[in-house]
Amino acid sequence: MRLTLIYPSVGRNGDRPYVRAWQMQPLSMALLASLTPDDVEVRFYDDRMETIPFDEPTDLVAISVETFTALRAYRIARQFRARGVPVVMGGYHVTLVPEEAQAEADAIVVGDAEPVWRELLEDARCGRLRPVYQANGPKSLSGLRPRRPLFDRYNYQNITLVEFARGCNFTCDFCSITAFHRASHHHRPVAEVAEEMAATGSRRFFIVDDNIVSQPARARDLCRALAPLGINWVGQASIHIARDDELLALLVESGCRGVLIGMESLDPANLRDMGKSWNLAPGSYEESLRRFREHGLAVYGTFVFGYDNDTRGLIEDSVAFAREQKLFLAAFNHLIPFPGTPLYRRLEEQGRLLKPRWWLDPSSRVGEVVFRPRQLEPDELEALCLDARRKFYAWGSIFERLRDRRANASTLLLAGVYLGLNIGAHFDIDLRQGMSLGAGLPERVEAHEPLPV
Ligand code: SF4
Repeated sequence: MRLTLIYPSVGRNGDRPYVRAWQMQPLSMALLASLTPDDVEVRFYDDRMETIPFDEPTDLVAISVETFTALRAYRIARQFRARGVPVVMGGYHVTLVPEEAQAEADAIVVGDAEPVWRELLEDARCGRLRPVYQANGPKSLSGLRPRRPLFDRYNYQNITLVEFARGCNFTCDFCSITAFHRASHHHRPVAEVAEEMAATGSRRFFIVDDNIVSQPARARDLCRALAPLGINWVGQASIHIARDDELLALLVESGCRGVLIGMESLDPANLRDMGKSWNLAPGSYEESLRRFREHGLAVYGTFVFGYDNDTRGLIEDSVAFAREQKLFLAAFNHLIPFPGTPLYRRLEEQGRLLKPRWWLDPSSRVGEVVFRPRQLEPDELEALCLDARRKFYAWGSIFERLRDRRANASTLLLAGVYLGLNIGAHFDIDLRQGMSLGAGLPERVEAHEPLPV
């Protein structure tokens, strides 16, 4: 049996890729490959970096679907299904809107793939795929060992991705991750994670967990297991640990060099509305960031604009704050109503969704605001986000922030990473803005019945 794994892109501008600077290994693909029996021939195509050979013979296609890639994923599925090849889909988006994905696939996986993948493959081999595969029973993340040679022929970022846990115990209203995991947080055995990292031979890791410190005690266990490895790693965390000096020190001892922190808003009322008031629990952002810096941790701060208190002034203040605080990197995104989240339901009930199923609408663009903000026009919010990125990644700002020796340039190597990432982000701003979702596939797909928007 031949299995083709596809990781779809958001879209394409002709032959140009979606982004240049951030292509990372799609870890979920290596995990699926590792769960696949040895007698199945596995091929993998990364739609972000290459053209999919639709006519290459295969017996089953598996596509990982996120909301931003859903339209393109469905179009890819139609190409294969038109050639008589069955298609299975899984991922966050499929779990959050299963009925939509079911219409475009022969089978879908709801929730984690590990418990059902072998059964699904056996059913495909026997020509008896069921429409839905869903794991029941307690979740276990023991025994995972991604098949990384899958990535050998690609020029991904020189950083190895690894997973410690899935989910998060917090309940931010816009977050599709916590909606998928229902505010639960499940961990792999710490020893297995450390063993896997050592076995890769890599010294640089991105631990992909959405919030590595949602359960601080488990984060401590991980740090203690990683400290002897002598590695460098980055991850995603929340700011509520700012006063936990022991954990901050352990993170650094384990090789953590920086964390992505969802700061979201400077406005307490906005934080309350999104269910993230706890962001200010350890004190002001200035105080919390000072503590991270004192420990030598670089911070990638992310902001989201479009909550009810957001105004032009507040957005401009946020950019000035990010520059003053010399954040290592920052993201300034408008609020995105992902299906299955409390935010989506709230905006829908209030009649504020301009494109209720924006992810299926070919007229939707990357960067487009698809709901009506309270104090700004949608176009105005889009322009303010773009302007925020331009100001933060302006040359003057990049060199000014490099002057934070403690967190951004503590070593020559770190300063080099800082410059590489910031310069990459500088050039990527306009590359991704405005691209139509799903764009860039052959005509043949467009001739099919339109997707139900
Ligand atoms: S802390 Fe992060 S991962 Fe957790 S619910 Fe909030 S946004 Fe999602």
